[in-house]
Amino acid sequence: MRVLVLAPVGRDAALLAETLAAVPIETAIAGDSAALLHFLDEGAGLVIVAQEALTPPVMAALAKWLETQPPWSDIPFIVLTSSGRPTRQDHYRAQELQALGNVTLIERPVRPDTIQSSARAGLRARLRQYEIRSRQEALVQAVADLEQFAHSASHDLREPLRSIAIYSELLARTYESALDQRGCEFLGLIQSGAKRMDTLLDDLLSYAHASSIPEQPLQPVPAARALEAALENLSAAIRESDARISVAEMPCVRVHESHLSQVFQNLVGNAIKYRKEDERLRIEISAQGVEGQWVFRIADNGIGIPPDYKETIFGIFKRLHPGPKYAGNGMGLAICKRIVERYRGRIWVESEAGNGSTFFFSLPS
Ligand code: ADP
Repeated sequence: MRVLVLAPVGRDAALLAETLAAVPIETAIAGDSAALLHFLDEGAGLVIVAQEALTPPVMAALAKWLETQPPWSDIPFIVLTSSGRPTRQDHYRAQELQALGNVTLIERPVRPDTIQSSARAGLRARLRQYEIRSRQEALVQAVADLEQFAHSASHDLREPLRSIAIYSELLARTYESALDQRGCEFLGLIQSGAKRMDTLLDDLLSYAHASSIPEQPLQPVPAARALEAALENLSAAIRESDARISVAEMPCVRVHESHLSQVFQNLVGNAIKYRKEDERLRIEISAQGVEGQWVFRIADNGIGIPPDYKETIFGIFKRLHPGPKYAGNGMGLAICKRIVERYRGRIWVESEAGNGSTFFFSLPS
């Protein structure tokens, strides 16, 4: 929270330090721009600098330093300008100074109470930035902990699950003749339960992974390729349901291909799962550019979703159609939402019960 002062001419810097000490606010006086940059690296709440010290090389060095700052940081600068009527050149200079970002110009000679209150306001704003940083760090840590937890939990749970699967399989193969019909039925339930839990663990892991997709610029990938992989994974279900799938021209988007593939697979998989029994399933997949983004559309003629549940279905473990008819665990759409939102997109549905559903999601182009 100290104030850095760069005022190389005369006694300006010492006077400023004295004025701020009365508040009290701690200052560090930089003799030149190199010292200023050094102090900045150590941490500072505010910079007060005389305009004449901001030569083009100093401005360039400061701009470069600002580029290295994290997103939460917006260090305030107070620039002390010369007195008198502003000339046209002053006007241009003031515009150049905007490169520093958070800049306040104060005309000299500066009254002590003016600089004191401006410094107080600047430091207060800086304190808020530090608070945001702390909260952000705590959040990042919480997400990392959650992912670690999901990892360990799914790993540790998979071990006993594997034993259940292996031994029930062995039991079925070796002792089938010794079991009566109810015994075989119970064994079948154990096996399908183990399979469901295995899928659930996979889905929990995907959900946790989707929370920690790093925010870095990506090369565009063809959505058609991601869709193709998803349809390939669903090929048995597509064949079995005799679905008619139409795919329009697909764009390129800046996401990880595997993430996009997962979203397609969940949405097309649902369209197949929640189809009508008495109508041939039709699925239309298309994309449209809207305000710098691509909006993907997956429309089906299935059983539809009542309007009241259009938001709820994207929640974790939320299902509208539980029970044996439609297998699932309510994680699919929650994973899609997580993935899409990590890329700053949105996912939503338009539907009427009994009249098909159209899922949309947007992604950066
Ligand atoms: P799951 O399919 O495992 O239940 P999802 O998260 O994928 O979980 O979907 C949540 C719920 O949304 C489903 O249980 C279902 O009720 C509803 N739903 C999803 N997609 C469709 C669809 N295309 N048509 C009708 N209902 C759907």
